[in-house]
Amino acid sequence: MIVILDPLIQKTSEEYRHILAYLDNLPQIEHRVHEVQGEQQTLTEIYLLGKTVSLSKEDIEALPGVERVVRVSQPYRILGRHAEDDNRSSSFEYNGVTFSQNNLHVFAGLCAVDTPQHVELMMKGLQENGQVCTRMGAYKPRTNPYSFQGHGKKCLNYVFELAGKYGIKVIAMEVTHEIHIEEIRQALEQTGQPTGVMLQIGTRNTQNFELLKHAGRQQEFPILIKRGFGITLEESLNAAEYLASEGNHKVIFALRGMKGEMGNPHRNLVDFSHVPVVKRLTRMPICIDPSHSVGTRARAPDGLLEIQHATAQGVIAGANMILVDFHPHPKKALVDGPQALLMNELPGFLEDIQISRDAYEKRLAKK
Ligand code: PEP
Ligand code: MN
Repeated sequence: MIVILDPLIQKTSEEYRHILAYLDNLPQIEHRVHEVQGEQQTLTEIYLLGKTVSLSKEDIEALPGVERVVRVSQPYRILGRHAEDDNRSSSFEYNGVTFSQNNLHVFAGLCAVDTPQHVELMMKGLQENGQVCTRMGAYKPRTNPYSFQGHGKKCLNYVFELAGKYGIKVIAMEVTHEIHIEEIRQALEQTGQPTGVMLQIGTRNTQNFELLKHAGRQQEFPILIKRGFGITLEESLNAAEYLASEGNHKVIFALRGMKGEMGNPHRNLVDFSHVPVVKRLTRMPICIDPSHSVGTRARAPDGLLEIQHATAQGVIAGANMILVDFHPHPKKALVDGPQALLMNELPGFLEDIQISRDAYEKRLAKK
């Protein structure tokens, strides 16, 4: 059960104290208070855990200072879309960029940071194409222990400075350990906050619960969590809920394909038909990662790259974010060069996305 308080309520008020005292007295019920930073105001939501079936929604709703009470209809209490509460906002703002289930942002960038020159060429290309978001991997989880593991904190300062120079507002950056969050925070501070970072939890860490708890406990950075490549959708959505249950509601869920022989000859089996499914179950904006799903630059007989086809499939299904690998010199890339798109393909890629997005919006307008 979720108790949503009047947005104007003061924490020091008698009403607030009375509500908490009332909830404290409910037998076998635990409660957790969450502050939700909305676009205009901070909302206070109180999550009731335990034997809530026997509670009277009307009694709680009658308490002064309570706006409404929502019965939770499925397990993702915070991020879920509940039957009684279909319209609760799912959007959030970070560093001037709004993320929601209704818009679309492209995060084209390097799978892994290699040289400052490549980072600069990437950022410059993005600015020339009107982009304010990117992806940059500094901490790379690799299958083989002898493979390049990413430059780690050594590269953060120049990545952030270059981002600032080219007007980049949000960088999706994977973290594989809680220490990385602190390193990112420090580098942003040292460089004077020239940009923002969206922490990325990769598919290999979707169920790394301690990492999820750490990432969820901070509210400075939003979080992009990837679907686990070998677990059920429900398990992955519960992993996202871990982040929110620790306090961070700025969560985006990424589809990146599922592992298995069935995906061949793609790197993973593309799962973008689940975009509307995740939207139905939760209020999170949904990201698609066509690069790590398809994993090759194979071209279909119609002349389009299979990565472009997969992107279009996700966009027409209503995706809100696209994470995609580009590289100025893919042959020199230290990670995932074979799936990277080229800088001169960026304008056409963006145009292609717009065609699919327009088609999606046209379909919605027809309803
Ligand atoms: C990535 O986006 O760089 C990455 C490693 O993706 P995934 O976790 O989906 O494999
Ligand atoms: Mn990669």
